[in-house]
Amino acid sequence: MNAASARLLIVGPQGSGKGTQGVRIAEALGIPVVSTGDIFRANIKGGTELGQQVTAILDRGDLVPDELTGDIVRDRLSQEDAAGGFILDGYPRNTAQVGHLEEFLASRGEALDAVILLDVPREESIERLTLRAQEQGRSDDTEEAIAHRLDIYEKETAPILAVYGDRGIVDRIDGVGSLDEITERITAALRARGLTLAA
Ligand code: AMP
Repeated sequence: MNAASARLLIVGPQGSGKGTQGVRIAEALGIPVVSTGDIFRANIKGGTELGQQVTAILDRGDLVPDELTGDIVRDRLSQEDAAGGFILDGYPRNTAQVGHLEEFLASRGEALDAVILLDVPREESIERLTLRAQEQGRSDDTEEAIAHRLDIYEKETAPILAVYGDRGIVDRIDGVGSLDEITERITAALRARGLTLAA
């Protein structure tokens, strides 16, 4: 497997550190991170039509409709920098979105190479998100929205792992430890799949 063609998904509960680790892994492999949450937040900040459509949804901690999210992801993955691989962060988030992504990738003769699951206990996620709320003031880091987002993760997102698990592409990574330790665990798992940059 050519490392430059790594097509990855990083999954974990909110506060698992998947955003941070996604960026680190993307840099190491020379591929872009495609984060739906970041795309929505950039549009909200920029006051675009999409931003206006999704502001209230994000603030409540609900999911943006699948159709809209799917269109955005397909557009983003069609850009040139994603042709050689990418790491998806925050998409797919339910089994319907898995179907949409699979269909899109299959139409290009592609498939995901690995799914990195960052495993963090719910209590730890809540602690980290509460800290982030104090530091960054994200509008969806209120106590209520945090609990709601974690519920959606457990009910709707965790089941997508069964689909990818059946395919043998899930790497479960212990998400508790230092940033460097966790990056090394992920890198080792990818290396074991032959997904690594030549030294
Ligand atoms: P995140 O930064 O991944 O935690 O995403 C922040 C918010 O963006 C979520 O709480 C949702 O409102 C929205 N969002 C991000 N990704 C998706 C997705 N795949 N499907 C629906 N909504 C999403």
